[in-house]
Amino acid sequence: MTGPVLITGGAGFLGSHVCERFLAQGKEVLCLDNFITGAARNVEHLRDDPRFTLVEHDITKPYAAEPAPSLVVHMASPASPPAYLANPIPTLEVGSVGTINALNIARAANAPLLLTSTSEVYGDPEVNPQPESYRGNVSCTGPRSVYDEAKRYAEAAVMAYHRSYGLDTKIVRIFNTYGPRLAPGDGRAIPNFVKQALEGSPITIYGDGSQTRSFCYVDDLVRGILSLAESDEHDPVNLGNPDERTISELAQLILEYTGSSSEIVYRDLPEDDPKVRCPDITRARQILSWEPQVPLEEGLPRSIEWYRSEIGAS
Ligand code: NAD
Ligand code: UDP
Repeated sequence: MTGPVLITGGAGFLGSHVCERFLAQGKEVLCLDNFITGAARNVEHLRDDPRFTLVEHDITKPYAAEPAPSLVVHMASPASPPAYLANPIPTLEVGSVGTINALNIARAANAPLLLTSTSEVYGDPEVNPQPESYRGNVSCTGPRSVYDEAKRYAEAAVMAYHRSYGLDTKIVRIFNTYGPRLAPGDGRAIPNFVKQALEGSPITIYGDGSQTRSFCYVDDLVRGILSLAESDEHDPVNLGNPDERTISELAQLILEYTGSSSEIVYRDLPEDDPKVRCPDITRARQILSWEPQVPLEEGLPRSIEWYRSEIGAS
């Protein structure tokens, strides 16, 4: 099928890598972004490619895609907890109205749509690791609900378009992913800790640091997304690295790799902060033959190099 790959939120951290990978495959890419958390500079290196187009657009407003896209990748949404907590209504709107608009673009073009959902649909899980069949433990009124419930609604909308209209849809549930272009000021654990370590300021651990996360390097994740886009799988698929670590372990690794002598300070744990998180990737292994290849011990030093140049340049 001809027509560009339309990527909403393509000027964000993950979106910029997804744009890059589709261009590398020889595809045309139309990137839509309102820059609420992303930035044109994330895709600056792609601007000279005639197959790449960047349009400033808020996907909560309808968009007439011309020419018709061959695939819609709906990634637009604040993703960092401080970003969605600061933008609760835009987060709810992009997950709901924005997803319906993206689905209508795909439907009008008779093109497949891939939604980037999240491990946050599992909330503060009582099952660890989390398989796709786990229905989650989410507060529908707590502060994180603006993101968690928006993504759960987005998944429901995607499945409804699939069932009602036969739209070819895919849903990826992404677990914590990091790497170059995850902005130093984004507010998530890895950029915060690396920035603090490089600047010699205190490393801020929320709670006692015993909570766990499983960190996936961006190249692994993006390879999985492209593979899912080519598949015939319509039910949600987890993508993430099942190597589960405590936040204290993560802070220690970052201190080691940066050679920093920053002290560690403890701050209040945000409300509803999940105590554990680890993907069960059995389905991704079976359906996509996908496996993360970059361990934290490789991905972190690579990312730290990027942060060094980024922070040095700013
Ligand atoms: P990001 O904040 O860097 O990127 C999100 C992009 O969406 C930004 O460029 C932002 O400006 C854009 N955007 C937001 N609202 C928009 C709107 N109304 N119209 C147009 N553009 C809009 O975050 P990210 O980490 O790159 O996340 C990308 C996607 O992946 C999100 O959907 C997020 O929920 C999902 N995800 C990411 C992770 C992760 O670990 N990085 C984990 C789970 C899910
Ligand atoms: N966190 C922390 N210090 C920070 C930022 C985050 O201790 O400066 C903790 C946060 O409370 C959570 C974990 O690190 O338990 C991962 O947070 P992040 O914002 O990266 O992603 P989340 O998985 O919460 O969406």
